[in-house]
Amino acid sequence: MSAVYNFCAGPAMLPAPVMVKAQSEFINWNNTGCSVMELSHRSKEFMAVASKAESDLRQLMCIPDNYKVLFCHGGGRGQFSAVPLNLLPKNKSADYVVTGAWSKAAALEAANFGQINTINVVEELNGKRQIQDPAQWSLSPEAAYVHYCPNETVDGLELFEIPESHGVPLVADLSSTILSREIDVSKFGLIYAGAQKNIGPSGLTIVIVRDDLLGNAHISTPCILNYQTEADNGSMYNTPPTYAWYLAGLVFEWLHSVGGVKAIQKINKEKAELIYRYVDSSSFYRNDIVPQHRSLMNVPFWLNDESLNNAFLSQAEDAGLLALAGHRMVGGMRASIYNAMPIEGVQKLVEFMHEFEKENS
Ligand code: PMP
Repeated sequence: MSAVYNFCAGPAMLPAPVMVKAQSEFINWNNTGCSVMELSHRSKEFMAVASKAESDLRQLMCIPDNYKVLFCHGGGRGQFSAVPLNLLPKNKSADYVVTGAWSKAAALEAANFGQINTINVVEELNGKRQIQDPAQWSLSPEAAYVHYCPNETVDGLELFEIPESHGVPLVADLSSTILSREIDVSKFGLIYAGAQKNIGPSGLTIVIVRDDLLGNAHISTPCILNYQTEADNGSMYNTPPTYAWYLAGLVFEWLHSVGGVKAIQKINKEKAELIYRYVDSSSFYRNDIVPQHRSLMNVPFWLNDESLNNAFLSQAEDAGLLALAGHRMVGGMRASIYNAMPIEGVQKLVEFMHEFEKENS
């Protein structure tokens, strides 16, 4: 079978060496005669897997000591609820900066738990979308926190600079950004990310939270969404998603082995540029985001003749290029090119796009 490249936005492809290693130890991990997923989460064997994964992530992201790293359930949407439940007191409001579908969904969910102030910052300039300069955002100095999403997985907009929040804790949904490029964790109060893009399989959610933000959850917060409870119990208040945690650990080891975040960031830029450069040079395809806010991880593009969409998708699939359909909310195409997507996959996509254009122009 020739190589298949999976451009799904999540669950996304995992690094091939990780899959091979996981397969080799699937039914007999470390000579225990058991699969990792059959071990007690409290066994010394699993505890070693868990703490190695945490320390590797801490190294990869240079996470300062005054931050807890939590391995949670519930995905990104679980955190849409957990963040206000833990950080938004009844007498305050929180700023929600909206740059696309996911930050909008986070704001809608947070409104169920407290007072929020929604700030729309996407502008259109000559038919292209861009994010308003963060210095112009009308943030409130009294807010309990500012929430934003640096990379909008559906819309393909990415904000590379970290907004200045003037002492108000900055909360970021890094679901599709984490580990794709260097991020200064010390600038954030809290970071969260569903695992299913750059970390591992779905079912695991990473929360990185500054110590001073713990301990203020609403009284009605479910225990498994309470950061203090999770921190006090080493993310094992209830049974954690152990197999996903183990796989995340393998992904972190793999990322170290290829040079860490700095090295993968360079490759990620090259991959994204290959597609954007081709789209910009063509009158057959288009992307409507200004170059400085184009996502490195999720590249949306449209065929100018949308009646060719189905042919494009089915021929791409025949060529081993899978899951290129755009999100149902925006249509068109989307190539999600997370860390595990090799540059060869992107080259093959661009070649295919070129061929398809030649045949249909
Ligand atoms: N935030 C972002 C940026 C996402 O891309 C997604 C999922 N694609 C979510 C939140 C929701 O994550 P989940 O499905 O894990 O709840």
